[in-house]
Amino acid sequence: MDNTQQRTELSSLGEFGLIDHLTNKIELQHASTIKGVGDDAAVLDFEGKQIVVTTDLLTEGIHFNLMYVPLKHLGYKAVVVNLSDVFAMNAEPKQITVSIAISSKFSVEAIDELYSGIHLACEKYGIDLVGGDTTSSMTGLTISITAIGEVEKNKAVYRSGAQVNDLICVSGDLGGAYMGLQLLERENEVFKVNPKEQPKLEGYDYILERQLKPEARGDVVKALKKLDITPTAMIDISDGLSSEIMHICKNSKVGCAIYEEKIQMDYQTKKMADELSINPLVAALNGGEDYELLFTISMSDHDKIKNDPDITIIGHITEETSGTNLIIGDGNAVPLTAQGWNPVGK
Ligand code: ADP
Ligand code: MG
Repeated sequence: MDNTQQRTELSSLGEFGLIDHLTNKIELQHASTIKGVGDDAAVLDFEGKQIVVTTDLLTEGIHFNLMYVPLKHLGYKAVVVNLSDVFAMNAEPKQITVSIAISSKFSVEAIDELYSGIHLACEKYGIDLVGGDTTSSMTGLTISITAIGEVEKNKAVYRSGAQVNDLICVSGDLGGAYMGLQLLERENEVFKVNPKEQPKLEGYDYILERQLKPEARGDVVKALKKLDITPTAMIDISDGLSSEIMHICKNSKVGCAIYEEKIQMDYQTKKMADELSINPLVAALNGGEDYELLFTISMSDHDKIKNDPDITIIGHITEETSGTNLIIGDGNAVPLTAQGWNPVGK
């Protein structure tokens, strides 16, 4: 499971020893963190700002497979997916808490790997780790992270604010994380049959990184602020574009028209999809885990955003009665479904 030579049993440290081992190097950076790890609770002070709080729970075998997910990457990703939710509220993440349940199959070195990824993400995004909980598990690893962020009063952006004629925008490209997962799954199956075979991962570094080491788009939130744009609605793309735009439409009581040709996909995403005979559009619409931001803006903000190379306008908001539609190549409208969209002929 971990490649390090040494194996220190968790029992040799005990719960308190382990917590101390994992947290003793933390240096707090935010004035809003009054007290971090080490008491019964953390103490925070946001001086009149509004607070956003979000939690994710990840379970071994359900949300991740340690056969091909390195623990360091898991720790990093577990933090990033929470930060992505904070950014999707138009807020700035400041603190996290980390709770883990671990079985005796993990060594201290393995948990160190997990925490090295957690600490790396905290460093990269400027986050204080202010607490958590540690317990044992009968089987695998469970990790739960809570992220706390701040936002100016009345600046939080909800799923419910989209208006008819607003432009629908997406950052980055889509479908890569899903195709990366398909590649890892395929190579894992090969490995199970023939453990001596080397995994064939060359040429797919981008989609592997999209799956194993995603980033949260705080840069997009910052860029929008700089352009003086407050999105009317926003959500992060954790479950695929289709499901996320439907959340916005349902909460905002509107419809949408999204143009197939506008959906950005990387070359590697398309190449992997081709290799596995998957329609890459299905990966973009239904794949998930891209952690890009999907947001709507008023049409009057169009000129501010049109030259941003990292943001694509993929459609517009319509009346609720028009439904949620994908406009395909020939101009026909195909209704989106929660599961995405079933390509004609498949
Ligand atoms: P309690 O008995 O009140 O639950 P703990 O002994 O579990 O306290 O925790 C002691 C301190 O260590 C608290 O500040 C807690 O938030 C922190 N902590 C516990 N587990 C973790 C962890 N896995 N990661 C980071 N901080 C932790
Ligand atoms: Mg505790």
